[in-house]
Parts: sequence; C-alpha cells; structure tokens
Amino acid sequence: MIKHLLFDIDDTLFPSTEFAELARKNALRAMVEVGINIELHELERTLEKVIKEKNSNYPKHFDEVCRIHKIKKPARYIAAAVAAYHNTKMSILPYPEIPRMLLTLRENGYKLYTATNGNAIKQWDKLIRLGIALYFEDVFVSDEVGEEKSVIFFKDVLKKLKAIPEECVMIGDREDSDIIPAKKIGMYAIRVRRGKYAKGKTCADANVRDFSNILEIIKSLENK
Ligand SMILES: [Mg+2]
Repeated sequence: MIKHLLFDIDDTLFPSTEFAELARKNALRAMVEVGINIELHELERTLEKVIKEKNSNYPKHFDEVCRIHKIKKPARYIAAAVAAYHNTKMSILPYPEIPRMLLTLRENGYKLYTATNGNAIKQWDKLIRLGIALYFEDVFVSDEVGEEKSVIFFKDVLKKLKAIPEECVMIGDREDSDIIPAKKIGMYAIRVRRGKYAKGKTCADANVRDFSNILEIIKSLENK
C-alpha cells in the first residue's frame, strides 16, 4: 500500500525555470533603467555566456556582465540587477493546481514530503514563499542527508520514514536524480514532464504533464 509521496520542488511544484528566466530578464531591465549604456539584447547575450561559463549558481553573474562590458563604476548597475532579481524570486508561485492537489492527497491519507537537491534553508524558503510548507511532514534535502538524490539518498529517506520502498512514490521532473535512483531501490516513480528536462526517455511508472489526475494515477500504481 502506498503511504508516502515524495515531491521534487524545482519544475515539479513550481515553474523554477520560468521564474529564473524572468528574474534574469528583470535584472537586466533594471540595469538599463538605472542608465547602463548597453542595449538589453546585448546584455542578455552576455549574461547567457556568463551563465554557461560559470553555471547558474555562481553568485556574481551581474558583476561579470559589467566586467565584460568594461563598466567603470558598476556598483549602481549590480545593485539594481540584484534587487530586481530578488524581487522576482520573492514573487514565485506554485503551478496553479498544486495547493488543491496537496490538500486532496492529504485528505486521502497520504503523507507528503519533499526530496530535493540543494541547500536546506533555500529549499524551505521556496516552500514558505510558495505558501505550501504546511502540507509537508518533512523535507529531505541533499545537504542534510550528505548525498545528492541517489540510491544512498533514497535509502536514507526510507530509513527515516521507517518505510519499505513499495510504500513510497517519488514524483519529479528529472530522470537522472528523481526517477532512476528511486526505481533502483524499488520505489514507484512518476515523471513530471515540465521545465527544461521535460523531454527524454523514462523508466518511471507513469508520466504527467500536470497533476490533475494524480490521485487516480497513484491508486492505479497500487493495483499494478
Ligand atoms: Mg526538479
């Protein structure tokens, strides 16, 4: 019997790819607004290059953009960019059907958790801003488990839940970190076809584009 549902956060509970793009765009617009003398599309091209080179978690993207464009006194532009970026990030919203889905699943007796890679405080920050933190019994984050989502990570989660794999479903958008390790240890897995990893093969038990039928799908897994 399925008891525990584990959700990934980014591009599963909210459109993180979309918000990240919007935050960057707003940041560059803010640089133009405070008077940087470079066209928006040029800034966009530079930022894209910087992100490719430094990866998306590098904390000084906008400093780097200013450096590349040889801006003499960059502080004003960096400050504007960072403020706009954070303002956008503060306004994140879940996918529209998420709050109702979480409520329905809880009413049906399932225990809900998130299982996510990254920093525990940052992941909690997202759940709180999304207004859905209270639905979850617990949050399993890689930096607390000491291991990115993997066979070891999910074994550790099972231990903490005092559960057997067949009682758990992992729900997420990424085949490599959400689906494959969960399936390897015998959990059920549902692949969410959203965000930049939406495409590609899967070994998941089911695929969804949104969560409108999630309850039926979870019930059908039990009868497989
Ligand atoms: Mg994800």
